[in-house]
Amino acid sequence: MLKSLPEYEVLAAAAHGHLCAGQILGLRMALYGMKLLGLEDPAGADRKRLVTFVEIDRCATDAIPIVTGCRLGKRALKFRDFGKVAATFCDLRDNSAVRLVARESSKQRAREMYPEVASRNLQQMRAYRELADEELFETQWVRVRLGPEDMPGYKAPRVMCAQCGEGISFKREVVRQGRPLCRACAGERYYEPL
Ligand SMILES: [Zn+2]
Ligand SMILES: [Zn+2]
Repeated sequence: MLKSLPEYEVLAAAAHGHLCAGQILGLRMALYGMKLLGLEDPAGADRKRLVTFVEIDRCATDAIPIVTGCRLGKRALKFRDFGKVAATFCDLRDNSAVRLVARESSKQRAREMYPEVASRNLQQMRAYRELADEELFETQWVRVRLGPEDMPGYKAPRVMCAQCGEGISFKREVVRQGRPLCRACAGERYYEPL
C-alpha cells in the first residue's frame, strides 16, 4: 500500500544519495499520479498495471520509482529525454494515462512562502511538502500508444543487425531495403567507433 511522504523521503534519500527538493517534487508527482489513477498499491498488487514515462534525467526522476515501483530494467519505466520535469503514469488495465508537469511557478511560490530561509533547496523542500497538488503540477489526461513490444514481459526472438551483427530485442530494429538494422547503424549512433 502507499506510504506517507516522510516514509518515502527516507527511502528516496537512501536510493538517491541525498534528500533534495527534486526528490520531494518527484515523490509528490508520483503520489499525485497514483491518486489521479486510483492506484493504491502500485509497487505491490497493482504493479502489473502501471507504466511510467519520465522526461528528464534529474533528481525528481530518481524519486518516482520509489513510489511507483516502476523500474527501467523491468520495462515499466520509460525515459524520453525531453528535458522537462514531467512524467506520464499509464494504467494499463483501465487504459487511462495522466501526464503531470511541474509548474514553473512553484520555485517562486517557495520564495514567497519561506523568504527567511536562505537556502533555495531548503526553501523548496519545505514548500514542495506543503503546496497543494494543483499548485505543484499541471495535469493533462492523455492517450499513450503502447505496442505489445513496449510492454513489460514481451517476448520475441532477437534480430541480428545486418550491418554490425549485434542482437536487437523488442522490435527496435529498422528495416532498410529489406535489411534489419539496429538504430545505431540506421543513423542514430551517439558514439563514434575509434
Ligand atoms: Zn537530488
Ligand atoms: Zn548495427
